[in-house]
Amino acid sequence: MDRLWTPWRYRYVSSHSGETSPDRCIFCTQPAANEDEKYYIVLRAARNFVMLNLFPYTNGHLLIAPYEHVDKLVDAHPDTLTEMMQLAVRCEAALRALYNPDGINVGMNLGQAAGAGVAGHIHLHMLPRWSGDASFLSTVAETRMLPEELAVTYKRLKDALS
Ligand SMILES: [Zn+2]
Repeated sequence: MDRLWTPWRYRYVSSHSGETSPDRCIFCTQPAANEDEKYYIVLRAARNFVMLNLFPYTNGHLLIAPYEHVDKLVDAHPDTLTEMMQLAVRCEAALRALYNPDGINVGMNLGQAAGAGVAGHIHLHMLPRWSGDASFLSTVAETRMLPEELAVTYKRLKDALS
């Protein structure tokens, strides 16, 4: 197995793929709904929030997104980008403490051609990885058998990040 990180193979929000309008964008509507538990928003900061990926590649798959609806890094406020990376550090610490991963993927897909499920709104993936999980992923990628339920992941990460 050569390739460990192939997000373009997965469509985690297929029904919203390519959606660019803020009123249909999950990264706009879900934080605005103020139903953080329902939408698995684990942390709110001043300019960004952190939520679970509802269709995770592995347990603990987090998404960090700004409140502002922008589809390019160059259009985001510099303070937003700074805070996004600070949140990535907090999330890294929480993921290491809770899941003891061997590694963590941190990455963005900008634009549909790059594999973005929601192309209209930038978001940073944080994905714990374990040695040998690639064969697991390639085998069950389409069914995504995950040993921990999202509600459990939500509680653990919310506690760890607060
Ligand atoms: Zn949006």
